[in-house]
Amino acid sequence: MKLIVGLTVLLSAVALISADLECSIPLDEKAEIPQGWINMTQVCTDALKKQIQTEIGASYEYLEMAAYFSQDVVNRPGFAELFFKSAREEREHGIKLIEYLTMRGGNLQEGVHKLISVPYKEEKYEIKFDGVSALKHAVEMETAVTKSIRALIETCENDNNDYHLVDYLTGVYLEEQHKGTRELAGKLTTLKKMENSHGKLAEFLFDKQL
Ligand code: FE
Repeated sequence: MKLIVGLTVLLSAVALISADLECSIPLDEKAEIPQGWINMTQVCTDALKKQIQTEIGASYEYLEMAAYFSQDVVNRPGFAELFFKSAREEREHGIKLIEYLTMRGGNLQEGVHKLISVPYKEEKYEIKFDGVSALKHAVEMETAVTKSIRALIETCENDNNDYHLVDYLTGVYLEEQHKGTRELAGKLTTLKKMENSHGKLAEFLFDKQL
């Protein structure tokens, strides 16, 4: 009996403490903090948000390619692994830019979900890759991403001399882009050369190598 009374008292005390700890600040209440430190312009902020979508979009595209090569009827585990890895890298790029944007006090009032939403692809084509066309597509995709990073750099440099962001994009992002694209182009060359001498066996051997 004493045990039951003790437990009841303990539970009531816990309930009281939990009620005290409940956050009573309404979610839409804004903290009044100085805004002067937020100095990214709207034009540059919008361009950065677009780049986040581009990175997330590239991640989806790689995921689609990886899933294709993973199927039992295609069975190219090397290609699948390469593109799963690329998908993770692109997602990581998107995350890093979100972290950068929020570090600079980027305005997300129109909704966080819009930041990572990628326009739905309307084309109803059935993807059908072989190794060469997949690598070719990857090189083209990386080239487009590089182009859009360069455009972002130009926008943020011209609009507000935002050298911190420009430096980050040039030193971290472009460096990775150049290396990654070169790697894919090299793989494409090797596979093409192998196909010239080994025909259809080449893709199987190349996949093993991956
Ligand atoms: Fe990227």
